[in-house]
Amino acid sequence: MDLSLNPEQRLVRETARDFTDNEIIERARENDRNEHFDLELVAKIAEQGYLGAIVPREYGGAGLDYLTYGLIVEEVGRGDSAMRTVVSVQTSLVCSGILRWGTEEQKQHYLPKLCSGEWLGCFALTEPDTGSDAANQKTRAKKTNGGWVINGSKMFISMANHANVALVFAQTDPDKGHRGVACFLVDTDQPGFQPQEIHHKLGLRGSDTAAISLDDVEATDDQLLGEVGDGFKVAMSNLDSGRYSVAAGCVGICQGCLDASVKYAKERQQFGRPIASFQLVQEMLTDIAVKTDAARMLVWRAGYLKDQGKPNTTETSIAKLYATESAIECANTAIQVHGGSGYVDDYPVERYLRDVRVTTLYEGTSQIQKLIIGRALTGINALVPS
Ligand SMILES: Cc1cc2nc3c(=O)[nH]c(=O)nc-3n(C[C@H](O)[C@H](O)[C@H](O)COP(=O)(O)OP(=O)(O)OC[C@H]3O[C@@H](n4cnc5c(N)ncnc54)[C@H](O)[C@@H]3O)c2cc1C
Repeated sequence: MDLSLNPEQRLVRETARDFTDNEIIERARENDRNEHFDLELVAKIAEQGYLGAIVPREYGGAGLDYLTYGLIVEEVGRGDSAMRTVVSVQTSLVCSGILRWGTEEQKQHYLPKLCSGEWLGCFALTEPDTGSDAANQKTRAKKTNGGWVINGSKMFISMANHANVALVFAQTDPDKGHRGVACFLVDTDQPGFQPQEIHHKLGLRGSDTAAISLDDVEATDDQLLGEVGDGFKVAMSNLDSGRYSVAAGCVGICQGCLDASVKYAKERQQFGRPIASFQLVQEMLTDIAVKTDAARMLVWRAGYLKDQGKPNTTETSIAKLYATESAIECANTAIQVHGGSGYVDDYPVERYLRDVRVTTLYEGTSQIQKLIIGRALTGINALVPS
């Protein structure tokens, strides 16, 4: 694996860095304070081409490779995890699934609208009683003459209040277990699709999160993504892309913690000298730097494997597990470097800690990532007790 970025990758990274510094960072604190989902900023992100980076140009995307997509996500994540969530959900959880599983008609119908930001999408897998055990879908899809009727409820769905299309996972035949799950591209502008905002989150306050009730929601056969019974595989393949994106965003948080902490440590004076001159402060900076580098290398490896078309589920889980857990540690350490100032939102580090906390929970908790890695190591599936 060549660790040097090519000229195009360097240019994309520089552009994303400037965009984050000039457009995202200045709004992050106010959006967090006001729990404001900033659609104006989402439109600017879309204009940059960041909502469909890995989608081929023929479908309205930027046609970039995964490594380059990861560089964009890292930069956006450094600025604001709420906006990084928009990029990750739209690109990885929605577009990548349509690209991989969609018919030609579905690709042409949905992808240009999603890549341009004209439409937002959401990924509705989690339910009130179904989280880590994602195959155990309680939402039901029943066949009718004209298509399907879906009933059930979903929980903690990012962007569901604003999405025009929702990937809804539902059980078609409970006797078949995960082989009965189907994925539908549901129109959200029908009366039975009712999102309800979730407020008072620890972090990601500038991100839109909703519970959804589905009452006789209709979908045609043409709105099936993949075949009936493919739903669980669709969900897992989208999550392979989503976990990569979350991991890349966490590298951005680590880097943001490092930048803020080095700057603060050189400016802040105690005992007549900058706190950066104390060995114990340098140790904290070093801890953040080493974790940042290691997380980035794991993300790049996963991206490299994806670009080579090689199996990467385990490597993606390793990257997600390490980057998310490290970002929590880096944010916590960054607050320590800042002393009391780190505890208020004049500096970004307290928001980094609040925002990053969810990343070891969603798209597979850290425990689930460990079980995926353990299964690859041993050949034994410890996810489901036998
Ligand atoms: C802000 C936010 C945004 C989200 N966005 C989305 C979204 O867009 N779409 C979506 O579908 N979901 C979304 N989620 C949901 C998220 O993916 C779930 O919360 C996550 O999968 C965990 O499920 P759970 O909350 O039901 O926890 P549970 O599955 O109930 O887990 C609780 C605890 O038990 C542990 N556990 C469970 N099973 C095992 C096991 N077999 N072995 C060991 N430990 C286990 C877990 O690791 C965890 O520690 C979001 C959540 C949040 C908070």
